[in-house]
Amino acid sequence: DLVLVSGASGYIATQTVKDLLDAGYPVRGTVRSADKGEFLKDLFKDSAVPFDYVIVKDIAEPGAFDEAVKGVVGVAHTASPFHLKADDPDELIKPAVNGTVGILDSIKKNNPNVKRVVITSSVAAILDDDIPKPHTYEEDHWNEYSVREVKEKGRNATNGDKYRASKTLAEKAFWKWIEDNKPSWDGAAIHPSLVLGPILQPVKSVAELNTSVAGLVNWFTGNHQEAELKAIKEAPFNWVDVRDVSLGHLRALTTPEASGQRFITSNGAVSPIDFVLSFAKHYPDRKTYPNGDAEASRRKEINAAANFYNGAKATKVLGVQYHDLDGSIKDTIDSVIQRLGV
Ligand code: NDP
Repeated sequence: DLVLVSGASGYIATQTVKDLLDAGYPVRGTVRSADKGEFLKDLFKDSAVPFDYVIVKDIAEPGAFDEAVKGVVGVAHTASPFHLKADDPDELIKPAVNGTVGILDSIKKNNPNVKRVVITSSVAAILDDDIPKPHTYEEDHWNEYSVREVKEKGRNATNGDKYRASKTLAEKAFWKWIEDNKPSWDGAAIHPSLVLGPILQPVKSVAELNTSVAGLVNWFTGNHQEAELKAIKEAPFNWVDVRDVSLGHLRALTTPEASGQRFITSNGAVSPIDFVLSFAKHYPDRKTYPNGDAEASRRKEINAAANFYNGAKATKVLGVQYHDLDGSIKDTIDSVIQRLGV
């Protein structure tokens, strides 16, 4: 019952590896460097079932996963670039799409015994900016908007649309591959909103933090431009705890009814007001973050302006019971203070 986790040194992936090991599934992770692989081996050294890694330097290379897939029964494909700094959209789209198609091609070539493949998609593949906010999204929606933006504007599309197009195109490629190849295994996709919660992954500095946690930490350390501070009055996103996302992956790998399904994992709207009010509660002596008191009474109203991604199906089918926001923010910051001394 060996499970392959691609991009095992990532934020979501490290937690997913931990949950798989804790549930008794031996794990093989793919990482880009031996450094990161060794970090993970050390992190999981007391696990009752083994963790090992193989190096896959670039998921976009044809045949990158040919060796990695041998002997596994389940695959969680999480590796994909998540940053908002790409100039050429292909910096994101190529690894996202080729990595997804590539891992499926490798399975086809080298492993007839795979039972389930779960990919980490995103609400970025569901959100549709053609629809005015606030809107409630379910799993039946697709982000055609970002794909069109990138097609029409190329490098001049927004960085958000470049990332969202990469997630949409990768997931579309996944379902199309399944339709075209009719494999003996079946697929499922997990769609997190902005992921918060404790870090476990190999990072040595704040600069190396993954994009979603870095956003929260920037609010905590006060590392913000004046213009960004205005965002304290806005609610541009939904959020979910990383432990709920990793459980979603684990259950999507092991639950028969998850076959062929998309699952939003999301626990509702959040705005930076929520961040700073939690900081004030748990770290009253820190004076690095903005003061949210003035807007505290408007929290509900501010958050009501956000889109809503309905994560109820993940609760119903996968049994994901969502962590609460205040505890998740505290656990995130505690872990970053402990690991990186911010
Ligand atoms: P991370 O940046 O921590 O994880 C990304 C992982 O992908 C890393 O292991 C990274 O390797 C690997 N990777 C990226 N590009 C390549 C490449 N070309 N070749 C090999 N490996 C590569 O971020 P997350 O954990 O947040 O992201 C994991 C997945 O979750 C992604 O698919 C992302 O789109 C998705 N997601 C994340 C959300 C969030 O808020 N965090 C929300 C919704 C979806 P390395 O560590 O060596 O750079």
